[in-house]
Amino acid sequence: MTAQPLLIALVSVQFFVHALVWAMTARMARRWRAAEGHFTLFWLLLALGLMLFVPPLESGSAPRNLADLLILAASMCEHRGLALHWGRRLPLRPYALGLATAAGVIAASFLMDNGHGLRVAVVCLGCAAMMLASVSLMWRLGRAATPIFAPVAAAGYSLLGAALLVRGVQALLVGSTTKISIDAPGHANIPLAILVLFVGGLLNLVHIRLVLGRVLHRLGQQAKTDELTGALNRRGLLQRLEDEHANALQGKSGYALMMVDVDHFKAINDQHGHARGDQVLQAVSASLRAALRSDDLVGRWGGEEFCVLLPRTQLHDAEPLAQRVATRVAASNAGVRVTVSIGVSEFGPADQDLQAVIRRADDALYRAKETGRNRVVLAA
Ligand code: GH3
Ligand code: MG
Ligand code: MG
Repeated sequence: MTAQPLLIALVSVQFFVHALVWAMTARMARRWRAAEGHFTLFWLLLALGLMLFVPPLESGSAPRNLADLLILAASMCEHRGLALHWGRRLPLRPYALGLATAAGVIAASFLMDNGHGLRVAVVCLGCAAMMLASVSLMWRLGRAATPIFAPVAAAGYSLLGAALLVRGVQALLVGSTTKISIDAPGHANIPLAILVLFVGGLLNLVHIRLVLGRVLHRLGQQAKTDELTGALNRRGLLQRLEDEHANALQGKSGYALMMVDVDHFKAINDQHGHARGDQVLQAVSASLRAALRSDDLVGRWGGEEFCVLLPRTQLHDAEPLAQRVATRVAASNAGVRVTVSIGVSEFGPADQDLQAVIRRADDALYRAKETGRNRVVLAA
């Protein structure tokens, strides 16, 4: 075997390995039909397609045309996988139509004297269209989550798409007289095979970066979200409180805090069961969000106690908000009568420590409980 077929075989094996790794990832994610599954198929089809370029298969033979279709199908899988990664489930029909059209043109090309150029053009232009469609996805959907990476990847895909476009148009115009095929004789094609390997590695990096980013983002969100109510958990709210406190210390703007505790919650649990207690907590959390402004942040501080951060708010503005919360909770339809006690405090220039503001809200809450519950008390 000369160096060239061996090189193509090696590239193909490398792509099989990519497919294997993605298959394992997709299995771990238990989402075969999602992005990871599509990336598996992308690498598998690409590897199979390249395999068909390894001699003794003749150029222009039937398996070769199958290779063209496999590579085109691979690029469609990648495009659909990218869309799924960003939460868009694109219909299968346009891909199937595109593939059928390509197969039709390839079949028709055999009736022509000089059909080889047309066949090269079909696969190059088809893949170019998919790459450029992926650029559009990265630009429209990817920039929000990865503002630096998505444009860089989009630039790379544009370059690759443009190269395929040029090659496709050239094949259409010049026909089969120029033979820049990956396995055509001549050493000029060895760099081409190495380029395919290199570009393949880069594409794999793009997929890994995107999926890893998505997984890490989801884990980060889970780590600061309360499972039962969907509100921030204590860790999540504390992070935001610390940021807000640091801003306030720099003289930007103050903030107010609300500690909200469900009254006689233990009795609700005892009389109606723990499941109903959970529903009450969900209803209280929903009432808090409904009563507050969009900038206000609700966190489950622990058990049946919630903490609310009111940015750019002073004590006298926080009081009507707290009253609104209490009214809203009392009106909520959780199947049992629910009231809350609320303690409110505000940041003061003497508060070097966030804990001081929290403590004052806690003390106010304690007084609300002491003086009969179902009321709002402002910190002194
Ligand atoms: P007070 O009016 O003084 O606040 O009385 P309380 O009964 O609300 O307060 P206490 O601290 O005595 O009881 C809180 C109860 O909340 C005890 C605990 O079992 C219950 N609890 C804590 N977390 C959960 C939860 O996630 N789900 C349910 N159903 N109950 C919870
Ligand atoms: Mg309570
Ligand atoms: Mg409590």
